[in-house]
Amino acid sequence: MDERLVIIGGNTAGLAAALAARRRRADLRILVLEASGEISWGACGLPYNLADPTRAPEDLRVRPAAFFHEQDIQLALGQRVLAVDLPACRLQLERRSGGRTERLELAWDRLVVASGARSRELAIPGLPAARMAPLKTLDDLRAWKEGLGGLRRVAVAGAGPLGLELCEALRSLGLEVLLVDPEPLPLNGWPRELRAAVAAELEQRGVRLRLGWSIRRAEDQPLTCRLELESPAGGAVVEEVELVAACTGITPNTEFMPRSLERTAAGALAVSAALRVGDLPIWAAGDCACREPAVPALAGEAARVWNPQAREALTGGRVAGWNAAAGVDERQAAPGALTQVLRCFGLELARCGRLSEPADTATAPAVMDSPPVRGLLGLDLARAPRSTATAPAVVNRSRAAGQTLGHALPGSGRLEVWLEAESGGRLRGGAILAEGSDGALRINPLAALLQRAGTATELAALDLAYSPPFGPLVDPLLRAAEKLLRS
Ligand SMILES: Cc1cc2nc3c(=O)[nH]c(=O)nc-3n(C[C@H](O)[C@H](O)[C@H](O)COP(=O)(O)OP(=O)(O)OC[C@H]3O[C@@H](n4cnc5c(N)ncnc54)[C@H](O)[C@@H]3O)c2cc1C
Repeated sequence: MDERLVIIGGNTAGLAAALAARRRRADLRILVLEASGEISWGACGLPYNLADPTRAPEDLRVRPAAFFHEQDIQLALGQRVLAVDLPACRLQLERRSGGRTERLELAWDRLVVASGARSRELAIPGLPAARMAPLKTLDDLRAWKEGLGGLRRVAVAGAGPLGLELCEALRSLGLEVLLVDPEPLPLNGWPRELRAAVAAELEQRGVRLRLGWSIRRAEDQPLTCRLELESPAGGAVVEEVELVAACTGITPNTEFMPRSLERTAAGALAVSAALRVGDLPIWAAGDCACREPAVPALAGEAARVWNPQAREALTGGRVAGWNAAAGVDERQAAPGALTQVLRCFGLELARCGRLSEPADTATAPAVMDSPPVRGLLGLDLARAPRSTATAPAVVNRSRAAGQTLGHALPGSGRLEVWLEAESGGRLRGGAILAEGSDGALRINPLAALLQRAGTATELAALDLAYSPPFGPLVDPLLRAAEKLLRS
């Protein structure tokens, strides 16, 4: 009988896996089980779709079901996997159809887990579910859009990338926005001066900041909700809002996998660089997986890196599907997402690789009683050390400031670059802050070098394209590399 590959999850990682598996094997039966009613859509566009009243949530759809049917990939929507039985190679699922729900069992020969992650619920005593709004799924987006008419004041809990993107979207819709986070500055883990500039930008754009504060409890009122905020210094204030946006992190969807499998504290399944779970006929990719690092030199002591980003899901999904179809192919390697880039009102922000954490950024829960949430780019690391004998590397840092365009052309803005390298010169990471547009993409040459364990000397010697409308003759990225060489 034909072999059956079952894929759990029908979005970025799962569908990339399905297409790669089909490319490798024409004879494989491929079935994608998707819990929701949607496949193939782009979560990264959620805040921008929310900000634009003229756009329907459905605009975020990427490929229609017919595209996958043409590749002989079977899609089963509304089918949630409840449990996976390893020895029997079977799984239990719940199928919703026409208002009815039924339980079924299904046999599999090979399995790809691509079930992503869900928004972490806010653990705020007294806050009713109706006043808590995640932005993670298309249904979340629909709920936001339907409810916008009744909103005036919103609290955004969590000053990470999603929290900042949401602040911008809500301000553009004319809402009052309160940003709450127990860290003293937004974007924990980024350079301190960059974080301070982001805080100033948020304030200038009318976002009220409660940084260094945690939401202790809530009290529901007929029209609003009273939030009690607390600061470590013992301060207490009350804020009134209609809604609290949950931006304090995500939890991998892996509860249905056997408990015996290795996973991180957050729940991401541990996989090899080939995206395989141990030596089982199971692969995992995307937000639900924590993998051996693509560039081990950048992972420090961590054995595995959890990096819930779109390119990680796409490239990881491809490798997982390819390997699941016919065994591990050493020539296929998922590069892993090393960069992160976002916009916060008039600022572009990018980072890449590994940055040392400033001493004053002790992690604290985003809301009282919830576990600490770390951002993207491998910050939630499986703590098993690779080698206890490794001495901590000496890190050199540099910072350079300049302009995004040459000769102060109209539209030119501030451009700042932070770089880090080990004492031997090997680059560790960097960050960029740019006013206006197009500055942040300077992170790409740095990413290309980091992927190949490049050095500050190699970065300083790069030939970056030059003409005043595109940048200055000596780009701040190159200047920061030259400074590193002199440090
Ligand atoms: C608002 C927002 C903005 C973002 N912006 C960026 C960005 O700018 N850049 C970037 O790189 N990344 C960004 N990301 C992250 C990026 O979208 C994710 O990393 C990526 O979508 C993960 O893809 P995935 O396939 O692993 O998971 P998902 O897209 O979550 O897909 C998993 C699928 O599995 C299904 N599923 C779950 N459990 C089950 C089950 N038991 N049975 C069957 N099906 C199940 C789910 O319904 C879902 O459809 C953003 C995310 C959000 C929410």
